[in-house]
Amino acid sequence: MPVTEILRELAPGSVVLDLGCGSGSFPAPGGPVTFCAVDLETPPVPPARFLQADAGRLPFRAWTFDLIVCNHSLEHFLNLGDVLAEIHRTIKPSGALYVAVPDSTTLSDRLYRWLARGGGHVNPFSSASELAARIERTTGLRHAATRPLCTSFSFLNRKNARGPLPRRLWLFGGGTECSLRIAIRLLRMLDRTFGTGLSSYGWAFYFGNAGSAIDTRRWRNVCIRCGSAHPPESLRATSRWWPEFTCPQCGTLNPFE
Ligand SMILES: [Zn+2]
Repeated sequence: MPVTEILRELAPGSVVLDLGCGSGSFPAPGGPVTFCAVDLETPPVPPARFLQADAGRLPFRAWTFDLIVCNHSLEHFLNLGDVLAEIHRTIKPSGALYVAVPDSTTLSDRLYRWLARGGGHVNPFSSASELAARIERTTGLRHAATRPLCTSFSFLNRKNARGPLPRRLWLFGGGTECSLRIAIRLLRMLDRTFGTGLSSYGWAFYFGNAGSAIDTRRWRNVCIRCGSAHPPESLRATSRWWPEFTCPQCGTLNPFE
């Protein structure tokens, strides 16, 4: 995931917060780094160093964190203004902030909200520049870069269902991985041909001291099962005419782009 670029450059002794972590929004960094994960609700399988807390009232002192990660969480906070104020208070002036959110105007987010009856997305973001400006203004951290993210529709994957399959899923081939691979290939072809954004998900934003190696290329090759994404140069395509790759994280077969 794009946040690994920042994690790689963290100095020993850095303090990192996964804010709105769910069951862990990224693998806990190794090495001499202090890590903490916060969410309002305790997930069934909490990540390492989990703390239940309101993101709008964080139980940390001012200037605690070198890096705060909000990976697909800002869209869920009812008290977004309070959360941004708490990021401003608890992040060091020399720190970095990583934010990934869905674009509410995309096919992916509309489908997700329709299928999951809202899915807890209470903050619709439709403009990357407006959101970046708001975060920059409220946290005091300079906007360093924005990276467009693609979707894999992994929320449609029947293997990811936590309960009975929603009946609406049958409109999407029942959420089988074969139907997802075909759908993604088709949408990417339409995007390439007509310049549409049907395979878009949203954006990753980097603020503050985010390091020197931010890659702003479109983040593609997202796994239809686990949702992880991988740079094309790190993957091996199975064939030239029907290229696919095996996800290094979960072993699922995916269309290669
Ligand atoms: Zn995977």
